[in-house]
Amino acid sequence: MDDCIFCRIISGAIPSQRVYEDDEVLAIRDINPQAPVHMLLMPKRHITSLGDVSDSEGPLIGRIALVAASLARDEGLAERGFRFLTNAGPEGGQAVAHLHFHLLGGRQMAWPPG
Ligand code: AMP
Ligand code: ZN
Repeated sequence: MDDCIFCRIISGAIPSQRVYEDDEVLAIRDINPQAPVHMLLMPKRHITSLGDVSDSEGPLIGRIALVAASLARDEGLAERGFRFLTNAGPEGGQAVAHLHFHLLGGRQMAWPPG
């Protein structure tokens, strides 16, 4: 999708700091980090949000979670803990309408989120 900023990052039209990539998944550093470690993991195929996934996308979502766990280990967060989340839709606080998951760590997280 030409008007999707994350599709443009995936195609390379917009530069990003890539930390992981395979045929289906890309992970980048967030441009405005909210924690010492803040990465975004996304499917390379445009899916608008978690509210739009179907059963056939189960393996893809599972793979993204496994990549997040691996990146958390790589960043030394496995023992300390980390947060893995997605914002979905307007009330979920989703600003970019391409499914992505935040991996945050390196500081104490609070609950509830804002
Ligand atoms: P969300 O509110 O869940 O849609 O989060 C969107 C995230 O994308 C925010 O944390 C932004 O800082 C991040 N973001 C926006 N543009 C870029 C970009 N060009 N490169 C990396 N991260 C970005
Ligand atoms: Zn997109």
